[in-house]
Amino acid sequence: MPGKPEEIKMVSNAMANVPRRKMMAFLAGGERTSEEIGEAVGKSMLDYHLKILEQAGLIEIGDSKIRLSEFGKNFMEGKAEEPKEAVADLSGAKPVEITEVRQLLPCIADSTKFRIIAQMAPPLGGALKPLEPLFPRGRYSERIGALIIQRGDVLITIYGTGNVTMTMIKGEAEARGVLAELREKINEAIAKGVAPAPREKVRVEPMEIYKYLPQTDCGECGEQSCYTFAIRLMAGEVSLDLCKPLRDSKYRQNREHLQVLVEYI
Ligand code: SF4
Repeated sequence: MPGKPEEIKMVSNAMANVPRRKMMAFLAGGERTSEEIGEAVGKSMLDYHLKILEQAGLIEIGDSKIRLSEFGKNFMEGKAEEPKEAVADLSGAKPVEITEVRQLLPCIADSTKFRIIAQMAPPLGGALKPLEPLFPRGRYSERIGALIIQRGDVLITIYGTGNVTMTMIKGEAEARGVLAELREKINEAIAKGVAPAPREKVRVEPMEIYKYLPQTDCGECGEQSCYTFAIRLMAGEVSLDLCKPLRDSKYRQNREHLQVLVEYI
């Protein structure tokens, strides 16, 4: 039975996905083979979804059959309350303003796009994390204490200190427009005083990961191709660090995008 925050998060993530919820509902009717599950709910990324459910302790994968674990059964029967991540109170947070926007040198990957640095005040600090569900492609990183939001090709990082960086943006005017939208969304949540309800995340496909890899099939990571590496990355079998060519400064933007995408895996 999950109890630690990271275990609770794994269950929440596992059940925040429609195909995985369908798999759980199908398995509630009894143990099945993976072929039966694939036929009933779809074969797309079947192994990946099953692995996520197994890691969350919701199912057991045997030699030939897959079944709900005891926790999974209780979960589906409502005997176990669905673990919820703590919902933060935003009543202490103050509305924010964008106080500074500076356009820096063009991005290395695309010289028609720019890197922007901005300042948000007052700093949101710990209130940033509960704001994550506001943005379908947003992910809070505990490691850097920042909310990272992907918006098309534009990557926005809001730090708890109030610093904001934006990459692959057309210029200062576009940046100001995007920042105004962000400020409006954040202030709306702060005005309500509560964190928004968790929302289903956008699913990442291997092709999306592949798009940002160097696509040279150099083999330095030990894989035969970049696409194989993308699939193994999705399955949690390799880490992004194994792709050494990505450390080259010319791939800096790609690396930043990939670092965001792997947060969704
Ligand atoms: S090291 Fe990177 S570029 Fe080379 S094959 Fe692996 S993923 Fe592709």
